[in-house]
Amino acid sequence: MAAEGPISLEDARAAVLAAAAPLAAVEVPLGEALGMHLAADVVADSPLQRFDNSAMDGYAVRAADLNAAGPASPVALAVAGEARAGHPAEAAVGAGEAIAISTGAMLPDGADTVVRVEDTSRADGRVEILVAPAAGANVRRAGEDVAAGQTVLRRGDALGPAALGLLAALGVEAVACHRRPRVALLTSGDELVPPGEPLPPGGIRDSNSTTLAALVTRAGGEPQRLGVAGDTLASTVAALEPALAADAVIVCGGISVGEHDHVKAALEQLGVERYFWRVALRPGGPAFFGHRGSTLVFGLPGNPVSVFATFTLLAAPSLAALAGGSPTRHRTVASLGAAYENGSGRTEAVRCGLELSDRGWVATPRPRQGSHVLTSLLDADCLAIVPPEAKRLEAGDRVEIELLPRFLG
Ligand code: AMP
Ligand code: MG
Repeated sequence: MAAEGPISLEDARAAVLAAAAPLAAVEVPLGEALGMHLAADVVADSPLQRFDNSAMDGYAVRAADLNAAGPASPVALAVAGEARAGHPAEAAVGAGEAIAISTGAMLPDGADTVVRVEDTSRADGRVEILVAPAAGANVRRAGEDVAAGQTVLRRGDALGPAALGLLAALGVEAVACHRRPRVALLTSGDELVPPGEPLPPGGIRDSNSTTLAALVTRAGGEPQRLGVAGDTLASTVAALEPALAADAVIVCGGISVGEHDHVKAALEQLGVERYFWRVALRPGGPAFFGHRGSTLVFGLPGNPVSVFATFTLLAAPSLAALAGGSPTRHRTVASLGAAYENGSGRTEAVRCGLELSDRGWVATPRPRQGSHVLTSLLDADCLAIVPPEAKRLEAGDRVEIELLPRFLG
């Protein structure tokens, strides 16, 4: 399983997913669970709605009393009390009676129907009803939304605003979620200087650490920035050693075959076992994936666009799987907005804009595709995956795309 030569993107994705199992479950308060994934099904222990209640402000009545009611023949009922939200009526509704009721208030005993306030006229302890309601009108029944014992959410479901609100409605305070993966981030290169420090001649700002930390957070992980390793084997080993305590390590730069690229040798020295080293992908050919014990290790190329692409196509699905979610949730298809020629013989990940047209979503390649052109990512909504065998794709051809954070919001 240790590939030396370049493997296809498809095989690389399969290897990455085969190695990633959801992390252990932890109990998380609802307020901290946004974006996490359930580690177990959630079964409602109570119905929703909890009790029959009114969908309108009006009067709780017995429909049988009102068969003859109409605008020209109002039926007068005695008002026997009030039911407000959170304050059930003390009395029941008897024959010839009504109870004033607010939206969400418990339907009083004896009543089967609610008449909207707009269809009534009130005077002196009595209410005139101007319509003949259908029995059960304007009543929300107990259990109409969720029955007690019903499975409302499943293991692996993402906790978004709607799921969190449903859990709160059911009285749940905390849920079992898969832990967020802790991801150690390291970058390699003598030239790299963090923002804020003086830049010597030939120095380059370390931008990947910032990009990667944001990408990891967006992928549901917790980034731990460990800084920059120098261009010697000893320095690279020393920087990588503590990183290997994380759930995943992402090191960028220094992974190619240059004389000053030490990441691969350092990983080997530290006992990281390789699944693959190179992927037939552009941008982003030199991309290492391995593991030490349960720690997954990605060695990504240093070019800012290459790191973005390889993270998106290889590391993000892996982090999603560790977090218990779906690794393919940002993958879909679109039609190409312009012809594209794949001249590299590798899979090309093409930065595209996405627009909705009458033919559905259209992905149009952006003009600048160089792997050093960081600004070309500013207006990229997706990566279109153009396989090597597709030498030329025409406008309108279907193409697989991977949605990027810019599009996802
Ligand atoms: P390398 O893979 O180490 O040969 O790096 C390839 C290119 O990416 C070089 O131009 C590096 O200066 C650049 N690079 C590497 N790491 C970073 C980083 N953290 N931020 C910005 N550029 C980087
Ligand atoms: Mg380097």
